Amino acid sequence: MAQLPVPGRAGPDASLTDGAAYTIDPLPAEPRAALRTLVDAGHEAVLVGGCVRDLITGRGATDWDIATSAAPEAVSELFPGSVWENRFGTVTLKGTPLVEITSYRTESGYRDRRRPDAVAFGASLTGDLGRRDFTINAIAWRPDDLATGRGTLADPHGGIEDLRRGVVRAVGDPDERFDEDALRLLRAVRFSLRFGFAMDPATEGALVRAVPATATLSGERVRDELLRLLEDESIAPSVAFARWEELGLLSVLLPELSALRGVAQGKRLPGDALDHSVRTADALPADDAVLRLAGLLHDLGKATTLADGQFIGHERVGAEAAEGVMRRLRFSERDVERVTALVRAHMFRYEPSWTDAAVRRFIVRVGLDRLDDLFALRAADNAASDVEEPAAGGIAELRARMAEQREAPLGTRQLAVDGHDLQRELGLAPGPRIGQVLASLMETVLDDPSRNERETLLAVARRALAADDAGLQEPDG
Ligand code: ATP
Ligand code: MG
Repeated sequence: MAQLPVPGRAGPDASLTDGAAYTIDPLPAEPRAALRTLVDAGHEAVLVGGCVRDLITGRGATDWDIATSAAPEAVSELFPGSVWENRFGTVTLKGTPLVEITSYRTESGYRDRRRPDAVAFGASLTGDLGRRDFTINAIAWRPDDLATGRGTLADPHGGIEDLRRGVVRAVGDPDERFDEDALRLLRAVRFSLRFGFAMDPATEGALVRAVPATATLSGERVRDELLRLLEDESIAPSVAFARWEELGLLSVLLPELSALRGVAQGKRLPGDALDHSVRTADALPADDAVLRLAGLLHDLGKATTLADGQFIGHERVGAEAAEGVMRRLRFSERDVERVTALVRAHMFRYEPSWTDAAVRRFIVRVGLDRLDDLFALRAADNAASDVEEPAAGGIAELRARMAEQREAPLGTRQLAVDGHDLQRELGLAPGPRIGQVLASLMETVLDDPSRNERETLLAVARRALAADDAGLQEPDG
């Protein structure tokens, strides 16, 4: 009996229970081959976690997690092409779809609430399912016939029933589970929002009790979880962070954002600066989680800059605050730069009176590769404020004017002279002076692109150097 994904199905078929037959059709070649390799070598191997959960609810699976009785060393030997093995013994196979293989394990404690103190392998499937976070993630599929995709479900914790009821419930004692790993609090919220599931009351009670422990989570783990939340297209950031706030997570993990609660602002839409921030994130695409984060953080500066009804300089203060958040959460340098540049630039105000030179300077100041981001952020900021760009004199006009400048030189590499020319023609020694002269020539050319000619620029440079020398001879001038 083929179990093809049924769009819109509310939950798993009533016939599905612990021990029921379940056919995965089609079972893609990659997980099928990996399972076969393990089974042929005499090991037990099952599919587990997200893929089983998503298959039996008709969502379809993209990533495939395999749990096996084989020890990590045995797994590595069986898959010489494996690219990556982490310290928890998970082997990730090359290629797509993603296939990850993890040895059955039981974990012996998480004293620092960050990661297991020790991982013991060689346990059974039952032990392995028992250390997973939520019942809906603790369902396994054991292959009976890999050729046809026939197999059997193992569901000792009632995950299938919880999928049917629409409940996120911890495996076993919820206080213990959250105490072992505080990241599970964030995962619980994310799964409940993604699937529109309620939180089991005992699980939610334990979650609230464990909130202070999330302060001890490593920045990297919070970052990854935050990104998974932001990139989930079925979760609106406004809903997610309202839930974080309600549960007490927001003030522990993102206090800078909590500080925007109650900061009134004169926007047409009701709400404070926090409401505005999450709405801005809502209006940005989930497939660019870092851009969504920029939307979320773009007004952090409003928490401290309000004076006389205005938030003077909040974009600068906000860029610093955003940087603080992102460094704490160990975001990459690239992401930090991207977000802080956007926050710093987000208040730009185009006027039709801008000269072409002003348009060119704007492009250079923002950076060619950040303009699309900045306009996307502006559009989201507008949407979250119920403001419309003016038909004339708005962003569309700025974009049209920027397009006209496409041919104009905007960087020193496009200048008609380079550092070698300056050394050769003006006798400048290699050193920082060269960069300074090129930068001043760039200013000349931004003002007037027609001056981007070798002889003209050399003359400009000569005059500038002569003026400098004259200045040097008259120190008190
Ligand atoms: P997603 O669709 O978001 O990938 P997933 O269920 O596949 O959801 P993963 O983070 O990929 O989630 O983890 C795979 C499985 O590993 C989970 O289904 C769960 O069984 C287990 N797991 C992951 N993280 C934890 C954790 N912190 N504590 C306990 N079990 C976990
Ligand atoms: Mg997964």
